[in-house]
Amino acid sequence: MQPEHVDAIVITHTHPDHVGNLSRADGSSAFPKATVYIPEDDFAFFIRNEPDLSRLPMPEDFRRAFIANIKRSVAPVAKSAVLYRPGSELLPGITTIAAGGHTPGMSAILVHSGAQALLITSDAAYSPLLNIDNAWRPGPDLDPDSALQSRRRLFDRAATDRIPVLGFHFPFPGIGNIRKTDNGYRWVTASWRFDG
Ligand SMILES: [Zn+2]
Repeated sequence: MQPEHVDAIVITHTHPDHVGNLSRADGSSAFPKATVYIPEDDFAFFIRNEPDLSRLPMPEDFRRAFIANIKRSVAPVAKSAVLYRPGSELLPGITTIAAGGHTPGMSAILVHSGAQALLITSDAAYSPLLNIDNAWRPGPDLDPDSALQSRRRLFDRAATDRIPVLGFHFPFPGIGNIRKTDNGYRWVTASWRFDG
């Protein structure tokens, strides 16, 4: 598969590690045929305006590079991107779920086909040990209280409906299930099988 074969890219939030591959080193679009979907509130906050990230625990020069990376990465698709508000089936089998807090517009994604589903929690949690088994809050959450509410909504849904979960930054295999406990949640990692 070549980059030209990709026809749709759904961005969950515009942090630099989630949009970096949109542009080539020369500033052109890395996926020239793809329609890129970006959460409207993230686009307004990070791309249209100068984001205030002063509450995030990072040195000033890192913060400046962080913002510059976002703008540079999104630049080649800024005019053509489709801005979306999470909460609907964006593409067949790809339903976006509002999960703001980590960034203003962050979306989780429910990938579904027939009776099967996978809940992609984006950056609602970084580590099952720190953010699921323990309720420690990720430092890069822009609005920690909204992020906490979003996290609980996603975890409750995954636990109640028994939907397998994929977290972007989780250790291998990245997939598991979330169970509710008396005072929180517990991560049950999927056992990985090599079928090759
Ligand atoms: Zn993030």
